Amino acid sequence: MVSVWENETFYAPQDIIIIGSGFAGLWSAFYLKKKNPKLKITILEKGIIPSGASTRNAGFACFGSLTELLADEQKMGTDNMLQLVEMRFKGLERIRSAFNKKDIDIEMCGGYELFPSQEEYLAEDLDSQITYLNELLKPIVKKKTYTAADKTLPQFGFKQINHLIRNNLEGYLHSGKLTQALLRHVQASGVQVLNAVEVKSFEKAGKYVTVKTNHAFTLSAKQLLICVNGFAKKLLPKLDVEPARGQVLVTSPIKKLPWKGTFHYKQGFYYFRNLGDRVLLGGARNIAIEEETTYAQDTTGVIQQELEKFLQEVILPGKEFTIDYRWSGTMGIGQEKMPLLEELSPGIFCCVRMNGMGVALTPLLGEKIAKMMTA
Ligand SMILES: Cc1cc2nc3c(=O)[nH]c(=O)nc-3n(C[C@H](O)[C@H](O)[C@H](O)COP(=O)(O)OP(=O)(O)OC[C@H]3O[C@@H](n4cnc5c(N)ncnc54)[C@H](O)[C@@H]3O)c2cc1C
Repeated sequence: MVSVWENETFYAPQDIIIIGSGFAGLWSAFYLKKKNPKLKITILEKGIIPSGASTRNAGFACFGSLTELLADEQKMGTDNMLQLVEMRFKGLERIRSAFNKKDIDIEMCGGYELFPSQEEYLAEDLDSQITYLNELLKPIVKKKTYTAADKTLPQFGFKQINHLIRNNLEGYLHSGKLTQALLRHVQASGVQVLNAVEVKSFEKAGKYVTVKTNHAFTLSAKQLLICVNGFAKKLLPKLDVEPARGQVLVTSPIKKLPWKGTFHYKQGFYYFRNLGDRVLLGGARNIAIEEETTYAQDTTGVIQQELEKFLQEVILPGKEFTIDYRWSGTMGIGQEKMPLLEELSPGIFCCVRMNGMGVALTPLLGEKIAKMMTA
């Protein structure tokens, strides 16, 4: 039973209900309020805290490694690849202008791509690819993105790696702090966030969309925005979005860690960075794609052992460490690499399928969806 007080405040009809308080939901609320501060907005989040990928990722502030962008160009064409880069590059600029550096631990320290000795990459080929992509990206980033960095390899101490390319414009941030800063910002602007509320279904009746939850109450709004990324199929079974579990570990502090930055390996299937003097490593989903196509949020022996092997054999050979943290999160991936930003039916919008790039993508997507919803 709902009291009259509750009904006229917390459960009162809204202008907009957003499902999901990850980066997509929060940046959308951020820009919706910026466009129209009077909008009544409620975010419904199934977790006690945001419980998707936004607080469980690796915190790379990146717009693509050399091989990732070349593979994207092959798959989606030059224009679409560049469009994605531009959204990510501008998204990183938005993050930096919206928040203080020290509040979200963002550092544009540069990143690297590692090339394994087993695969025969020729330095000359990589050099011409660097030149090609630098030219292509220049109108967007205005600077030189990639540089060959083989000379740096010996000081990093990696094994089984024979080439290194530096991305001068990449960095990392603290994903927990960014989510919290966004939450604080939108709440201060009047957005209501209700946690531990899982949306089970929704229905359009007349001018309002009614949302059924795991609680006795229902909520309604003039418009609905679905920002549940990897969980999208549970609410919208026909969408091209599959859950993809990503597993991560963090080591104990490493004495005299010889490198700093973000690192990509095998087209981004493996990724690692320093977190102070510890190493955060994730990926290896490519060795068990079927098992990792899941909503489950636990970790598995197969992937965790593969990650530890990679640490011992390639990243930290001869170094002593233990594992301090292990976790997993759910990404939303599809056949299409472009995110899905759409008005599905009148008044019902979605902003999902971040394809593992949501840190940088979501500020611009949030702004775009806010424009669509207030048009
Ligand atoms: C291990 C891992 C590492 C990653 N590393 C990086 C990285 O370094 N850089 C990068 O750019 N990206 C990375 N990503 C991807 C990035 O984290 C995501 O693209 C981004 O967080 C997606 O944000 P989102 O808001 O769309 O989704 P999410 O953060 O998943 O938010 C969706 C929210 O919806 C909620 N929800 C779901 N269903 C319901 C429902 N029915 N009712 C109410 N609430 C619901 C969830 O609890 C969740 O909080 C990584 C992802 C993983 C898993």
